[in-house]
Formats: sequence, C-alpha cells, structure tokens
Amino acid sequence: MAKPDLMERVVNLCKRRGLIFPSSEIYGGFRSTWDYGPLGVLLKRNVKDAWWRSMVQLRDDIVGLDAAILMHPRVWEASGHVQAFTDPLVDCRNCKERFRADHLPESGACPNCGAEGSFTEARQFHLMFKTHVGPIEDDASIAYLRPETAQGIFVNFLNVQTTTRKKPPFGIAQIGKAFRNEITPGNFIFRTREFEVMEMEYFVPPEDGPRWYEYWCQERLRWFVDLGIPEEQLRLRPHDAEELSHYSAGTSDVEFSYPWGWGELEGIANRTDYDLKRQSEYSGQDLSYYDQDADRRYVPHVIEPALGSDRCMLAFLLAAYREEEVRGEKRTLLRLDPRLAPVAVAVLPLSRNERLNPVAHEVADLLRPRFMIDVDDAGSIGRRYRRQDEVGTPLCVTVDFETLDDRAVTVRDRDSMSQDRVPIDKLVEHLEELLPQ
Ligand code: ATP
Repeated sequence: MAKPDLMERVVNLCKRRGLIFPSSEIYGGFRSTWDYGPLGVLLKRNVKDAWWRSMVQLRDDIVGLDAAILMHPRVWEASGHVQAFTDPLVDCRNCKERFRADHLPESGACPNCGAEGSFTEARQFHLMFKTHVGPIEDDASIAYLRPETAQGIFVNFLNVQTTTRKKPPFGIAQIGKAFRNEITPGNFIFRTREFEVMEMEYFVPPEDGPRWYEYWCQERLRWFVDLGIPEEQLRLRPHDAEELSHYSAGTSDVEFSYPWGWGELEGIANRTDYDLKRQSEYSGQDLSYYDQDADRRYVPHVIEPALGSDRCMLAFLLAAYREEEVRGEKRTLLRLDPRLAPVAVAVLPLSRNERLNPVAHEVADLLRPRFMIDVDDAGSIGRRYRRQDEVGTPLCVTVDFETLDDRAVTVRDRDSMSQDRVPIDKLVEHLEELLPQ
C-alpha cells in the first residue's frame, strides 16, 4: 500500500470505528486536539498497561508515581524550562505559514507554498503553557502546565527513595499528561499540544551511567518488537553533538518508519546528575544519596526513556493495518498484538434468535470478568467477523444452534481465520491459553 494512503486509511478507520475523534467536532474541531472514543480508550489503556507492566510490575527495581500537573513555578526555573524551553520559529513571507526552523527541508523551499528564500530570521518561541493559580492574574500567581512528567519525579526523589528504601540502581515510572505549545502540531496524534507521556527516571551511581544508558536503549527497542512492531520498521538513532541537550551525556531516539519517513517514537537520554543538582540548588534541599555499603555520598545519574502514549499508539496502529483479499472479498484488519487489542473476545450469536440469546448471554457473562468482550448480534455473521477484524479483535466466539445440543461454541482466530469447536465449560481456560498476558 502506498504510504500516504496508509495514514489516510488509519485515520479513517479511527474515525469510522470510534477510536479517535477530532476534539470539539461539532464546532469544527480545535487545533490538532483529539478525543479517544470507546475503542480508542481501550487501545490506549492497553498500551499504557503494557508499558506499566514491563516497567513496574515485572521488575523489582522500579516503582510508580503520579505527581500533580501543576507544580511550584521554581521547579521550571530549576529545570531550565522557563529560560530555555523554546523552539526556533520562522515565518514564510509568502504564505504566512509558520515552521520550526529545525524541521525545514534541506532544499530551503517553503513546505507549504514552495516559495524559495521566503523565510524570516528564526525567533525563539516558548513552548510552555502558562496559567494563573487563584483569583488574581498577576506575576505572583503564574503556574505552568508541565511540559514533561520527569520533573515531578526529580522533586520526589527523596520522598520515594526514603519511603521505599530503594538503592541505586532503581527507577521511578510515571504516566501522565504533558502540554507543549507546539509550533507545528500535526500528522494526526503524532504531534499534539496536549499529549500523554510514559517516562521512567532510572537513578544509578555516576560511573554506571553509560552502561545503563546502553541497557535501556536495547530494552526499549525490544519492548516494541515484543509487542509486534517488525524490527525493520524500527531503528535506534544516536543524536550527534549539536543535537544533544546541554545536560545530556548521550541521547538516542527509537525511530519508527512512519508513512512520511523515519521519525522519533521514543527518546532515551542520559541526563547525568543535571536535574537532581539543579532542583537541589534551587530548593536548598540535599538530593544526594548516601551509599552505606561503600560509605560515600553522591548525586545519582539518571537514564530516562520517555515515550508518548499517543504517538506509540499511532505506531502500533500503522504497523498493524492490513488489507487482504479473502475468497474474492476485501477484508481490513488490525494485526494488533492480543495484549493491545481494544476488545479481546467478541461473542457472536449466529443470528438474532430467542433460543440462541440466553446461551450467548451466558457465555458473555462467563467471559466478561476475565476479558474485555463485545457482544454483537446485528447483521450477517460474515459481516460481524469483518467488523471485529477491522478493530483487531483476536478471537470471536460464535454461539450457534448446535450449541443448544452440544454445549460447545466455535472459536475463530482473526489472523488465520481458523475455527475450533470448544466446550463452554473449557472455554475460559482455552481462551486464556490463546491470550497470554
Ligand atoms: P521533538 O523534537 O519531536 O519536538 P522531543 O525530542 O522534544 O520531540 P521528548 O522531549 O524527547 O521529545 O519527548 C519524549 C517523547 O514524548 C517523544 O519521543 C514522543 O514520543 C513524545 N512527544 C513529545 N512531544 C510530543 C507531542 N507534541 N505530541 C505527542 N507526543 C509527543
């Protein structure tokens, strides 16, 4: 499939099947903001659960946190955001469009109108959203919407370390909304002004920073492959010297091959001791760690994998989208990993019939506590299979007239379309085997 088509088809599918809607649509939408519908919210939740499971649940060296979005404004002075969280902005004198100077094509022509040499000098544009806390809108009441969740972790370093008694190397993971007043949002949910990030700060003894940085680069790449993104659609790109943030001792992007080319999916940075030192300096609190065994005090270095859950969901959708021909008919399907699929099992009575209905409900009630299910009895069975394929439901359970006699159902697989007959009293066990966590 031609790549621009792929993006268009995924966007259409998201709208048509209730995964993602334009925000405030009845008013004509609002500046690249998006709402997640019934199936979208399930997919996004599964993406976040998969991340949380791999980061927190399956490890004994990482704990979770959920810090407030609004924080003391000094936090953002200490982090450097108030002073330096800017992007260079240029205007095209011809069509008046604005662009990030660091995202312009090499040709130097305007990506919108094609004019040559039409750009203004670059100006620095501040990316943090400002608001006021309390009834008076003056300088003393300024607060910022956080542009990353990481600082919430750094300012809680001591709280978490002392209450959990974790010793470096250990990490703190957080999922939450972040806000950036992006100059050029776009490409659907790839770049938006309000988005969600999944960030983990891993605190290590200073000399171990480079080793753990390498470890997290490989580990994060592995996570995407394990959840079904083909290796050839991923690559690790180390930043070169000019691109590196001033505090970083190394940054690599996990890049994905989007329909418009390679682009960042996740960033992994060796942030050194910069953040803890700065928050220490600005707050006057000692954020160092005393290592009793070695009898030494140090400020830990930090390795940070940071991934947008919206952007990540887009990559999973793009990688999963397929159109196939089956017996002369087209079927669209999302080959999502079953751990990510919005609905795990669809229960489909063969037809709308008063004898089948009670059994279908019995099966649905049996499965509901274990799996996210959908019950659909409208239209032909073939059409209902297609509707489930299109949103990536890995398994369909069909209740037919034979079920009334043999107390067995048909389990149909999304990818192979193979069908197995399974007794109702073995069904949960059977599905659990097919849908490992
Ligand atoms: P860029 O240079 O593309 O603006 P960045 O390098 O500033 O991005 P990071 O600060 O590394 O981005 O953010 C970490 C992750 O958060 C990114 O890899 C991406 O997955 C996600 N992310 C960042 N900005 C946005 C956004 N505006 N919309 C959606 N996701 C975002």
